[in-house]
Amino acid sequence: MTAPVIQKPLVRARKVHKAFDKLEVLKGIDLDIMPGEVVVVLGPSGSGKSTFLRCINHLEAINGGYIEVDGEQIGYRLRNDRLEKLSDNAIARQRRKIGMVFQQFNLYPHMTVLQNIIEAPVGVHGESRSDAVANAKRLLERVGLSEKADAYPRQLSGGQQQRVAIARALAIKPKLMLFDEPTSALDPELVGEVLATMRDLSKQGLTMIVVTHEISFAREAADRVVFMDGGKIVEMGKPEDVIGNPQHPRTQAFLSRFL
Ligand code: ADP
Ligand code: MG
Repeated sequence: MTAPVIQKPLVRARKVHKAFDKLEVLKGIDLDIMPGEVVVVLGPSGSGKSTFLRCINHLEAINGGYIEVDGEQIGYRLRNDRLEKLSDNAIARQRRKIGMVFQQFNLYPHMTVLQNIIEAPVGVHGESRSDAVANAKRLLERVGLSEKADAYPRQLSGGQQQRVAIARALAIKPKLMLFDEPTSALDPELVGEVLATMRDLSKQGLTMIVVTHEISFAREAADRVVFMDGGKIVEMGKPEDVIGNPQHPRTQAFLSRFL
């Protein structure tokens, strides 16, 4: 008999607290995410969704608890029983495992699509230009934009720009992808193509945390749905449970807006 493979979570968040001065924004977040899992985070505006993603990526330092990604604590290390802040270099190395896509695509306007995608691998991570270009071309194929390699961002629709931003985030070969309302800035007719790209990625075994108000995407693509309110996880589970049969009054109230 072969021994069962015990998989470790790729992300472990424990008692995560974050405050901006006196404003407590995250009030003890506990969440484990397994490799390959797609987790959709729902919740009203101001509930702390973006802050949580930003803490995972160490764009914000947390005030309590810890976050581990791929077995390493984000931003800190334990030394002689004391928590020590990591060096900028060490943090950059951790960030390399995490790709992030924002509401605003923030492509470099003076660079072509291809240049945007190879910028971090070549400029920051020292990958050879030819490897980075080959990888960028594969990624453009994956997001359905092979023919746009030499276009400039202004020549693309918002949906195409966001798909380039996804390819750019994937170019560092992250283990974890974070999406923060990636379709919220798009005209309604452009939302579908970006969600379709994300749905493809979700089927390819990528570990994803997606903050979105697209309930249908959550229902179809999520392995798990997390509902946040007031800096806490109020409810979490399979989409058919959390969306189809929410237990908490605040989840019910939030979802009733989408019916
Ligand atoms: P969500 O993404 O769920 O809408 P956010 O994480 O953006 O929520 O924000 C949660 C709360 O934290 C809000 O009250 C917001 O105003 C506050 N906040 C977010 N970032 C900062 C910051 N850099 N400084 C001060 N307050 C912030
Ligand atoms: Mg937000």
